[in-house]
Amino acid sequence: MSTHNLLLLPGDGIGPEVMAQVERVVEWVNTNSDVTFNIEKDLVGGCAYDDHGQAISDAAMDKAMQADAVILGAVGGPKWDNVAYDVRPEAGLLRLRKDMELFANLRPAICYPALADASSLRKEVIEGLDIMIVRELTGGVYFGEPKEITDLGNGQKRGIDTQVYESYEIERIAAVAFDMARKRDNRVCSMEKRNVMKSGLLWNEVVSQTHEKDFADVELSHMLADAGGMQLVRWPKQFDVIVTDNLFGDMLSDVAAMLTGSLGMLPSASLGAEDATTGKRKALYEPVHGSAPDIAGQNIANPIATIASFGMALRYSFGMIESADLLDKAIMKALEDGLRTPDIMQDGKEKISTTEMGDAIITRLTQLSA
Ligand code: NAD
Repeated sequence: MSTHNLLLLPGDGIGPEVMAQVERVVEWVNTNSDVTFNIEKDLVGGCAYDDHGQAISDAAMDKAMQADAVILGAVGGPKWDNVAYDVRPEAGLLRLRKDMELFANLRPAICYPALADASSLRKEVIEGLDIMIVRELTGGVYFGEPKEITDLGNGQKRGIDTQVYESYEIERIAAVAFDMARKRDNRVCSMEKRNVMKSGLLWNEVVSQTHEKDFADVELSHMLADAGGMQLVRWPKQFDVIVTDNLFGDMLSDVAAMLTGSLGMLPSASLGAEDATTGKRKALYEPVHGSAPDIAGQNIANPIATIASFGMALRYSFGMIESADLLDKAIMKALEDGLRTPDIMQDGKEKISTTEMGDAIITRLTQLSA
């Protein structure tokens, strides 16, 4: 019997509504497996600011650093649009990412068969899609120095951002991607722009070296990032794991995500380095969507992205592959049975609420595990 510590940070807007459904799923796992999750909860975002003037307190940060995994809902909303920059809701999220040193962002793009008709691409292109984009999150052009706008004194200005990567940053993200591939279809495609960027040349070289040294059993291919963008919309099923830098990953993961339909369906994970003694990684799991203030408080938000984020925690933080597969199947079954929250509603299907979707998934967990 093993015990794990989960920190839940529901946040703002629809965050608490969708997180309440995750709590029910965690309780189901506690009752129906030999693993126990201890749940702690705390504030992040606008609600934390309202409570104590910070987007996340030091005490909540300590809990996040100690937890085996953190699950976050969403932060932000118009109520906090005018608070000071360093205590705005997003500052809580950024502090979590920074202090936990979460350098690897994992964004799966999965097309549930029941929703294949909802994509902007043809059904045969998208049906059965299951790819994972591994994006470097703490380096590259968003952080490189110099980063400035200078006045050239002749009526012109110059804006500079610096794309910079060191070998260790590429090595560790490549290792995450290869590791991930081993748990999937064992294929990695690395994307950069080595034809025009020195950092792209280095990226390509270090990914190849890391592959040769420790992951030669995984199939590796390389693609220029612009061609990768085209291939993602032409025939996305050719990919298993894609590994790429912060900037290209930002764009390619959004493209891949939208192949599959609604924001309410998309989970994500951000991982830190492996602890040398325990072998555990710091990890934050969260839906891709925001706090959706337009529908908050109405019990109509889609909880699937957040529930599937807990599914990613089961898979990647706790190695509970069977439970993660079961949860994926329960979600798939609820959709196959025609149940839809309003964001994914289609003709002839049954429109249900946030809590009813929670009910539906839990009922199917019980049925499928019987
Ligand atoms: P959003 O993702 O909150 O909403 C975009 C649209 O998608 C809205 O129409 C919303 O109703 C819908 N939507 C989102 N999630 C849904 C769900 N689970 N079920 C059903 N419909 C859903 O993005 P936004 O409107 O640009 O931002 C709203 C607030 O969220 C802002 O304050 C923004 O800063 C914040 N935000 C936070 C995060 C985060 O916490 N990681 C991410 C993005 C935006």
